[in-house]
This record gives sequence, structure tokens and C-alpha cells, in this order.
Amino acid sequence: MAQPHTPISMVYGPVQSWRFGRSLGIDPIGAISVCSYNCVYCQLGTIERLQSDRQCFVPTQQIHHDLQAFAPWDVDAITLSGSGEPTLALNLGEIITMAQQMTQRPVGVLTNGSLLSDPQVQQDLGQADAVAVKLDAVQPTLWGRINRPVAPASLPELWDGIQAFRQGYKGHLAIQTMMLSPWDEASQATYVQLMQAIAPDEIQINTPTRAQPDRHVLSARGNAPNYSPSDSLRRFKSVSVEVLQQMSDRIQAATQIPTRCPSPALLSR
Ligand code: SF4
Repeated sequence: MAQPHTPISMVYGPVQSWRFGRSLGIDPIGAISVCSYNCVYCQLGTIERLQSDRQCFVPTQQIHHDLQAFAPWDVDAITLSGSGEPTLALNLGEIITMAQQMTQRPVGVLTNGSLLSDPQVQQDLGQADAVAVKLDAVQPTLWGRINRPVAPASLPELWDGIQAFRQGYKGHLAIQTMMLSPWDEASQATYVQLMQAIAPDEIQINTPTRAQPDRHVLSARGNAPNYSPSDSLRRFKSVSVEVLQQMSDRIQAATQIPTRCPSPALLSR
């Protein structure tokens, strides 16, 4: 069921990102946060609606209208992310095509990858110029504790979905890994094997530094959240820049895949 029309703009930014440069964000989810994960570090706060079924949340016409207000789109890219998991939006493919045609800018999608086994999701995402897929752990127990997916998701299913998508995708594929603590040798070795099998164009290693509010704050979509004094903010103990760099260097040396981590000034953007 579609959400009622809201005057809130579904386009936000520009957002400065270490991965995409200066980018406008499109939110295909809307005022209520909806995701198939409920990551412990999510900057949106606790996800308000957990689901893994696709639906149309925001009409494409509304996003078209909101995007028009940002003409002439003086940005490097358009990024679909926003208030949850963008592949849950049934009109994802339509939004991507509309944004490409309207802005003549590359369109990227940040996804948790949970729906990548679905051929229709693969087809929709396949239209994006760039896709970044989240893979935060290689041990099922740890993965479950960090990403807290809607049952009955499993880590092998996620890997299979990423590999299936990889086989048909012609754009730029990045694997994005959020480190919450330093990884042991066995985990790093497993990760290297997976990256060799998936062969992404790029690997991005990051760590959470953004505060997590105790409620959904819409402005947390961008990188200048507007919290109220009554918001309780949870902060994570991030791994150091040195640990990120060591992991990044090691993965790149072992896989020969370009691997990046943010500079200290741009951590988590
Ligand atoms: S996948 Fe993204 S939007 Fe969903 S809970 Fe995790 S960090 Fe938040």
C-alpha cells in the first residue's frame, strides 16, 4: 500500500561523500524508515518498519517533482539511499532511469544486498551506473548480530545473491564493509576468498562514526543531521584509521582489487 503524499522532499543534499564525491540523495522509502536489516550502527536510528517485501513507497512522479527543484544538478552523482533499503522500492528501476534521463548524471545505489537473489531486483539495480553492496561480516553469528536481518535471511543467501547480481551487472560494483572491531586472521582470509569470487570493481572499508539517534530523524539521510536536544544519541567505539588502512592495504594486496578507506576527515561520509 502506498504511503500518503507528504510535503517532505524525497531529494536531499548535496551530500559530500568520500565514495561518490558531491552527490544528491534520492530517498525512495519516505518519512517512515523501512529496511530488511536493523543494523546496530544505523544512522537512521532503530528501523521503524522491518520488512523484506517490496512495495511502492514514494510515487516516481513525486521524486521527479522533487528532483526538478534541484536543477541544474551541479553534483558529481545522484545516489539512492535515504530512509532505508532502496531495493524494497518496487519502482526502483523506474526511479533510476528517470533520474539518469533528467539529470544526465551517473546514478548509484547503496544497498544491503538482501534482495539480490530476486531476478527483478537484479534487473532494476542493473540499470544503475554504480552499486555499492554492504557486507559487514563473514561469520554468520557476527553478521546476524551486526546487521540483524529480517528472518529467514542468511549469510550464504546474501553471498549467492551478490554473485548472481555480479554475473549480469555491467556497471561499477563496490563491496562496502563497515568494521566495528579489528578482524582476526581467519575472517580476513574468508573475506579475501569471497572478494576473489565476487570480483567487485572496488572494495570500501569504513567504520561507523555517526551517532545513532533513539528515534528516526529524517535529516539523518544526509550528512548534517538535525537532532533535537531531547534526542538521545548512541556513539560507537569505531576502529582507528590505522586499523582501517591496514585492513584496506591487506585486502588490496591479496585480491588486487582497488580497496579504499576514508581519510580521517571524511570518516563515514
Ligand atoms: S541496511 Fe542501511 S538503512 Fe538498513 S538498517 Fe542497515 S544501515 Fe540502516
